[in-house]
Amino acid sequence: MSAPVLVINSGSSSIKYQLVDGETLEAATTGLIERIGQDESVLTHKSDGERLERTGRFADHAAGLEAMVAAFEEAGTPLAEAGLIAVAHRVVHGGERFVQPVIVDDEVEQAVEALSSLAPLHNPANLEGIRVARKLFPRLPQVAVFDTAFHATVPERAHLYAVPSEWREEHGVRRYGFHGTSHAYVSRKAAELLGKSPKAVNVIVAHLGNGASVTAVERGRSIDTSMGLTPLEGLVMGTRSGDLDPAIVFHMHRRTGASFADLDDALNKRSGMLALTGHIDNRAIEAAAASGDRAAQVALEIYCYRIRKYIGSYIAALGGADAIAFTAGIGENSAEVRAGAVGSLTALGVQLDEAANAAGGPVISTPDSPITVMVIPTNEEGEIARQTAALLER
Ligand code: ADP
Repeated sequence: MSAPVLVINSGSSSIKYQLVDGETLEAATTGLIERIGQDESVLTHKSDGERLERTGRFADHAAGLEAMVAAFEEAGTPLAEAGLIAVAHRVVHGGERFVQPVIVDDEVEQAVEALSSLAPLHNPANLEGIRVARKLFPRLPQVAVFDTAFHATVPERAHLYAVPSEWREEHGVRRYGFHGTSHAYVSRKAAELLGKSPKAVNVIVAHLGNGASVTAVERGRSIDTSMGLTPLEGLVMGTRSGDLDPAIVFHMHRRTGASFADLDDALNKRSGMLALTGHIDNRAIEAAAASGDRAAQVALEIYCYRIRKYIGSYIAALGGADAIAFTAGIGENSAEVRAGAVGSLTALGVQLDEAANAAGGPVISTPDSPITVMVIPTNEEGEIARQTAALLER
């Protein structure tokens, strides 16, 4: 490995990690620590074909990362001998300040903490991973890479909400957008697949996982994206409603007396496909729809319709697109969702090739389609490692 980076994605009760080469973006080792703080935690570690599983009680993130270090000793290259250039951390919210990756020091740590009010579910968990890793690897640079950063180029017309000025000026209310590392990586790969420079093409990326967002990328720069102040806006997701009339919140508060915390929970965790079908997992929803479940059929229509509306509006926002790229769990695997999302956009320049779509691409449009439609597996850890290596080279 020429630029080995340990990439850490720290959640509230889980940590994903990968040892990635910041130049080739290949991962030599991947791992997942789950159920931190619960009775039985599990660590799964994969390195060059070897698979290791450890169960035990990891009381906190520090215990989890110590178990990770031990796993590297057993399978793969021990971290101390891996020649790491940095430990890189995924941080969800960078606010207006962090528009590039940064080397973490105490001041950056405090700034990330201050941004927790904008991402209360994510930033504190990301920060916990940073704090523990700084202690565990005191001699290595710790780099924070922000999910919002790629969208720093979204212009005012797309990032400002028409709300009172003090909301915007004193409370940070604006569109930030998320999944930035994925949109950055996939839009660059899409340009590569077209055989062009990212600066020469307009790409629409649909990142469809449990969370989902669409981004309009104009000549390499994000100019609009469907998520907003938080990841709640935009597409219908696994458990999030996506776009709705904000007055629904007031209506439900007045009618039921539900607190804002309840309503927040309802829209983020009990809405979306879960509310429409009883399932979060798209495979279960597609299976239910195929077996005649009407609610699942309608939910998939709603899901695809919302994506279609965003893609149509982003073709308009960009004044024309060269490519549409689908990525993440659903985007990479569901031919049905892809067809539902773009199959009817022939008048806008999309000619889907049904057989290629069923086969999974990478190109799933006909050779003469004015817009090339693609399936591109995302690589967020690879992109984080790449950005980290680039930062340290400067
Ligand atoms: P996360 O946002 O948690 O990283 P992923 O990108 O892994 O999520 O996407 C998870 C979603 O992908 C789930 O809804 C899952 O059902 C869906 N998915 C995974 N494989 C398939 C498949 N073969 N067909 C349809 N959907 C799939």
